[in-house]
Amino acid sequence: MGKASVLLGKVRGIPIRVDASWIIIFVLATWSIARGVLPNLHPNWPQALTWGVAAFAAVLFFVSVLIHELAHSLVALAHGLPVRQITLFVFGGASQIDDEPQRPRTEFLVALVGPLSSLLLGGLYYLVLRLARDVSPPVATLAALLAQVNVSLGLFNLIPGFPLDGGRVLRAGLWAARKDIAWATRWAARVGHLVAMLFIVAGIVLAFAGDWLNGMWLAFIGIFVDNAARASHGEMALRKVFEGHTVAEVMSDGCALVPPQLTLDVFVEQYLMGEARRCYPVGTREEVFGLLTIHGVRSVPTSTWRDKRVTDVMTPLPDLRIVSPETPLWDALRNMTADGVNQLPVLSDGQLVGMVSRENLISFLHARSALQS
Ligand SMILES: [Zn+2]
Repeated sequence: MGKASVLLGKVRGIPIRVDASWIIIFVLATWSIARGVLPNLHPNWPQALTWGVAAFAAVLFFVSVLIHELAHSLVALAHGLPVRQITLFVFGGASQIDDEPQRPRTEFLVALVGPLSSLLLGGLYYLVLRLARDVSPPVATLAALLAQVNVSLGLFNLIPGFPLDGGRVLRAGLWAARKDIAWATRWAARVGHLVAMLFIVAGIVLAFAGDWLNGMWLAFIGIFVDNAARASHGEMALRKVFEGHTVAEVMSDGCALVPPQLTLDVFVEQYLMGEARRCYPVGTREEVFGLLTIHGVRSVPTSTWRDKRVTDVMTPLPDLRIVSPETPLWDALRNMTADGVNQLPVLSDGQLVGMVSRENLISFLHARSALQS
């Protein structure tokens, strides 16, 4: 996912973001509809109408992807799974659901509702097409384009390659049948790999038969599905290594507390300059208030360091994800990834007992792999 994204708004508290790369898709879609599709259907349309319909179709394409992702997210929310955000980027959209479903039924519903809503939307557009055909050619053309796009979106996502929606539906079925999520994931990934190979082979055959464009397109889908299956398999393997281990085994202690009344200039001089450590919890012996980062200190001008206290620039405790020594390692890693941070404070009974960082997790992995080989 790209770093540059714009917040469009919120639906039921879920932030909807658009990745900057989406601009490319919007321009490409508008251009290819205006230049490639519409002139064949309506050669007599004036330029303004052609480009207007093309741009409107591109916007509605965007809305279609959004509806697909919203369907996933709202069903996830209804089943108690937290949804962090929805991002629309170059190849469509992604709903960032923070937790894996605990039951196959939930996974089945969350996965299926996306393609289902796309197919339903495709049907609705088809209805509009039927109604508008003799009344308004521009509306009918728009509806025809959108019907096609939504049906393709629904069918593409139903391809049983995990972690595409279809692969998740398959995994949910296998999981329900055998009550073993690791086994179900393994087999869903294998089926995904097989399906991907079929797409690639079919694409090559088609390309050699003379249909280059569709052949390349099929092969491209195959490569995409295969990559996705591989990535989720790797995640499962990582999860297995972490299984049964907790934060207590890897956390580092020795982060001395920074007194809350300290001004920034004194903090920089006494703490930041003198030592090589990288964690600066702010608090007293009784209570931790927050976490100071170098980034936070840098965000205020040097000239104001004398007048600012460390509490003014720290990230307050309620805004931080906190783990305890008993937190499973996998959950700690997921929390770091979700927030884009490199370390998390470890608290036990309100007392700071240490920090856990990505480096801690990496050394743990190194130690484990050395033991196994
Ligand atoms: Zn989907």
